[in-house]
Formats: sequence, C-alpha cells, structure tokens
Amino acid sequence: MYDFAIIGGGIVGLSTAMALGKRYPNARILVLEKESNWAFHQTGNNSGVIHSGIYYKPGSFKAKFCRDGCLSMVEFCQEHGIEHEICGKVIVATNETELPRLENLYTRGLENGIDVKRITPEEVREIEPHVTSVGGILVSSTGIANYKQVCYKYAEIIKQQGGELHLSTKAEKIVTSGKHQVLETNCGTFETRFVINCAGLHSDRVAKMGKTDPKAKIVPFRGEYYELTPEKRYLVKGLIYPVPNPDFPFLGVHFTRMIDKSVHAGPNAVLSLKREGYKKTDFDLRDFAEVMTFPGFWKLAAKHADEGIQEIIRSFSKAAFTRSLQKLIPEVQQEDLVPTHAGVRAQALMNDGKLVDDFLIVQGQNSVHVCNAPSPAATSSIEIGKAIVAQIPQQPHLKAVVTQV
Ligand SMILES: Cc1cc2nc3c(=O)[nH]c(=O)nc-3n(C[C@H](O)[C@H](O)[C@H](O)COP(=O)(O)OP(=O)(O)OC[C@H]3O[C@@H](n4cnc5c(N)ncnc54)[C@H](O)[C@@H]3O)c2cc1C
Repeated sequence: MYDFAIIGGGIVGLSTAMALGKRYPNARILVLEKESNWAFHQTGNNSGVIHSGIYYKPGSFKAKFCRDGCLSMVEFCQEHGIEHEICGKVIVATNETELPRLENLYTRGLENGIDVKRITPEEVREIEPHVTSVGGILVSSTGIANYKQVCYKYAEIIKQQGGELHLSTKAEKIVTSGKHQVLETNCGTFETRFVINCAGLHSDRVAKMGKTDPKAKIVPFRGEYYELTPEKRYLVKGLIYPVPNPDFPFLGVHFTRMIDKSVHAGPNAVLSLKREGYKKTDFDLRDFAEVMTFPGFWKLAAKHADEGIQEIIRSFSKAAFTRSLQKLIPEVQQEDLVPTHAGVRAQALMNDGKLVDDFLIVQGQNSVHVCNAPSPAATSSIEIGKAIVAQIPQQPHLKAVVTQV
C-alpha cells in the first residue's frame, strides 16, 4: 500500500514527489512514468528557459510560481551543480505599433516585482548587436538551464528519500476500492491512498480515469524549432523575444541560446494531430477526433482563424518562418537555419473556446489533478510541487515535517 502515487515523470510529477518526500519522510511514494526515461515529453523538448515571470497576469499562479520558481530553480541548479546560466533576455518591439504593448508588458513586469528595465534601440544593440528594434525591455533575471538534468536530479533525490520510481509503467485504469485506489498498469497493479495526476498531455484523460472532471480538454500545440548553423551562432548572444500577442499564451518565435551553446529559433504554435506528435505527419485518430468533436476548439478556431492559418503557413514554409525571425534579426537567412526537434504543449481549452490561461489544479476524491501546466511550468516546477503538497488534506497516519523544499 502506497501513501501517494504520482502518474507522470515529467518535471511537475517529479518535483511533486520530491516535495512530498520532504513533507512526509515516512510516506511510501510511488512515481509511474509510461516512457523509458524521465522528461520524455514536454519537459525534455522545451526551450530550456528559466523564465522571470514578466508576462503573467498579476496575482495569477503563473505570476507567483514563476517569480518564486525562477529563484528556487536557480538555487536548485547551484546546489546540485546543474548546468544553468543567468544570461538575461531582451524583449523587443520591431515597429511603432508594438510600442504600446511593450509598455504594457513593462508595467506588468513592475507589477509582478520583476527586475525590468526599459531600453532604447541603441541599448538593445549593445546587448544584441544584430537586432533591429524601436525599443525593448531588459529582463536580467531570465536564464537557461538543462531541464533534463534537473529531472534526473529530482529522481535521484526521490530515491534517496525512499521513493519508488517505475519507468515504462503506464497507468491504464484507476479503480476505487473502499478508501483506497488501485492503479492498473501494464506492469501490474499498485494500491494507494492518494493519487496525483501529473500526466501532461494526457492529464485530462487520467483525471477522467479517476472520475474527476478535468474542467477542460487538452489540445496539443506543436512548437517547431530551427537551429542556427554553428557559423551563424554569433548573431545571438542570449535570448531575444518579440512582443507577444496578449491573446495567446505563446510567446512568438524567438531566439534562444541553449545551455550547450547552440541557438534555437522558434517555437511556433501549430495544432498537432497527435498528442505526442513531434512530426508534421504524425496522426492519431482518437486524438484528432477528440479535438474535432470538441465545441471549444471550433469556437477558438473561429475567433483566431487568421492567426491559425498564419501558423500553418509558417509551419510548412521555411521562408515564412525565416521572415518572422528576420523581424528580430534582419541578417538571418533561410540557409542559416536547420530544422531541429519539436515539442508539443499540453494546453487546456475550455468548452467556451477560451484557452486556460493559468495553471489549473483540480481536486478529486483522494486525488489531485494537474490539468493545465504549460510554460512556465518547468521554471515553476519546485513551487508547483510545493503548492500541490499544500493542497493535499492532512494525512493523519503520516508525520508531517513543516519545512518545505
Ligand atoms: C515547445 C515548448 C517550449 C517550452 N519552453 C519552456 C521554457 O523555456 N521554460 C519553461 O519553464 N517551460 C517551457 N515549456 C513548458 C514546460 O516544458 C512544461 O510546462 C512542463 O514540462 C510540463 O511538465 P509536466 O511534468 O506537466 O509534463 P510532461 O513533461 O509532459 O510530463 C508528463 C509525463 O506524464 C507521462 N504520462 C502521461 N500519461 C501517463 C500514464 N497514463 N501513465 C504514466 N505516465 C504517463 C508522460 O509520458 C510524461 O512523461 C515549454 C513547452 C514546450 C512544449
């Protein structure tokens, strides 16, 4: 009998298991991951940015967890010798019409308590000599990290705490048996008092398996990247972002210097026809049919048809992708860009066609379900883990330690 079973070995599931192990040192904790390694999906295919928290609505979970998570992630990387760097980033307006949105973003950064500085086009050039802009914001606390390494370290700590980690183990059914729940998997059954669903792209399905209404459906949005050829890496010193469209939770294609010194350009945001569909040709009938028969999707599509079509064009046309990047760095040419990995975002969408803006954690019977944890959930993972543990009702049979992670 386990006290807690966590479904999903991405950064959120692992950070939650780690936080549980700190809070309840005597608890029997189990983590189930269907893939053969940790961080296989969103976590292992992201941009690797430690976000500062400038973008998010003041007072939201995203704003709070990201600001605090940025600090705790850096501290964790320092303590455990994980590759990271606080390189700062610039967000630039590339024409006059973007300036009011840039100004709003600056104000939001101040409201969120972030160290932001409004900078002139000349100051942008001093930081990023190849960028053309009409003004920008410098966010000094933004950084980069290797999130796979972070996950491997989380897993190591969970093991040291006495937790049990099972790879290649897919939770297929959740059956309630009295006060307990039985997780049926491809590797046998596991009985637990409490279930925590951190299944990312499958979190809505796992919530339903546990008889909990996830409140929204996961719609997969693929983010495709190109990489700058090694000879052209000099064009980018750190992180260069456009001013985002405030109607979307995506940040617009940008340049990211990764921790291994490569420079990635992207990601775009295009509907994926498969939840774990990393290639344009990937298709899954069940995943596709679920999106196509979901009324919320059609409401979203009707409202944002233009943007959707532009994204599809940019996905299939390297020239269109390059044009978006040239707004930031005019020197970039198609031949400087090589396609590289893609990631798929688990974005929750409501029935009324609204994208769930904030992190969404839903309580069930002896269970908690993380039903929306897109970016900046990697940055925020330590704080999300702590918040989930705080939401779990007191377990009378377990001794709790008050100190947090
Ligand atoms: C393209 C892209 C770029 C991003 N860039 C950034 C960034 O720069 N900075 C940042 O902070 N965030 C970024 N994000 C967001 C961040 O990566 C995610 O928010 C975060 O990784 C979510 O972690 P997770 O653990 O919830 O999900 P995941 O990492 O997807 O993990 C969920 C896990 O659950 C497992 N699972 C699912 N169903 C089952 C089952 N039935 N049984 C067992 N296991 C199951 C899956 O195999 C998976 O490993 C980005 C995301 C994408 C896609």
